[in-house]
Amino acid sequence: VIRGEKCWMTNAKWASHAIVHALTNPSAHGGHRSTCFLFPMNTKGVSYNEMGGKMVWKQSSTGSIAFEDVFVPEDAILGKLDEGFRVMAEALNGGRLFIAGLALASTAFALDRCRGYASERVQFDGAVIGRFQRVQDVILDLDIALEEGLTWLVRLLHLYDTKKLAREQASKVKIACSRRASHLLVEAMEICGGVACLDEFGLMRHHNDLFVTRVGEGSNRALKSQATRQLMPGVPNLQ
Ligand SMILES: Cc1cc2nc3c(=O)[nH]c(=O)nc-3n(C[C@H](O)[C@H](O)[C@H](O)COP(=O)(O)OP(=O)(O)OC[C@H]3O[C@@H](n4cnc5c(N)ncnc54)[C@H](O)[C@@H]3O)c2cc1C
Repeated sequence: VIRGEKCWMTNAKWASHAIVHALTNPSAHGGHRSTCFLFPMNTKGVSYNEMGGKMVWKQSSTGSIAFEDVFVPEDAILGKLDEGFRVMAEALNGGRLFIAGLALASTAFALDRCRGYASERVQFDGAVIGRFQRVQDVILDLDIALEEGLTWLVRLLHLYDTKKLAREQASKVKIACSRRASHLLVEAMEICGGVACLDEFGLMRHHNDLFVTRVGEGSNRALKSQATRQLMPGVPNLQ
C-alpha cells in the first residue's frame, strides 16, 4: 500500500502509467530501502493536481501526484523488492545526460542569437558591434562551451548505451553544462542589449529554463557531494 505525494511531476497530466519510487524498508542500509513500482495512473487512490504559477518550462505541464492508500500488486514491482535505488540510479543517469543536452541546446540558441545580433547591429559610426573584442569574447566562449560540452556528452552517451557510465560522470557533465550555460546566457543577453528582454527574442525563456537544469534531476549542489566522493573515497560527506 503506497501513501504520499510527489510534487513537480513533468507531463504527468498526460501519463498513462507512473513509475513510483517508494520507501519499503526504512530501517535497511543505503541503497536497499526502497522499491520501484510501475502501475496505471487510473489505479484507485491516485490523483493528479496541476501546479500553477510556473515561470520555467512553460511548454510543459507540472503537477503533483497524490497516493492515498494505493494498493499495488507484487507484479507491479520494477526490478527487485528493496532494490529500487538501483533502478532509479540508472534512470537518473540518463536523465542527467538529457539535462546536460538541454543546457547545451540553450547554449547553441544563445550562440545563434548573439552571432546574428552582433553581425547586424550597427552603431552610430555605421560599424557592427561584433567588431568589439569584448563582444567577440562572449561569442567565442559560447562556441567553446558548446563544442566542449557536446564532445563530452557524446562520449558519455556512448558509455550510457554500453552500460559503462558511472554515476559521477553523469553528475559532472550535468553540473558543468548547466552551470556554464546559465552563466553564459546572462552574458549573451548583455550582448543583445534591450531586445534580449523581449519574449519573442527567446533568450529570456532559455535563461529561465536553464534554472531547471541547475536544480532538476538532482540539484547541482547535492550532486557535487556525490561527484566528490569518488575523488576522496576516505572522506565522509556531511549528512
Ligand atoms: C519545472 C520543474 C520540473 C520538474 N520535473 C520533475 C519530474 O518530472 N520528476 C521529478 O522527480 N522531479 C521533477 N522536478 C523536481 C526537481 O528534481 C527538484 O526540484 C529538485 O530535485 C530539487 O528538489 P526540491 O525542489 O525539493 O529542493 P530541496 O530539496 O528543497 O533543495 C533546495 C536546495 O537545497 C540545496 N540542497 C539540497 N540538498 C542538498 C545537499 N545534499 N547538498 C547540498 N545542497 C543541497 C540545493 O541548493 C537545492 O537546490 C522538477 C522541478 C521543476 C522546477
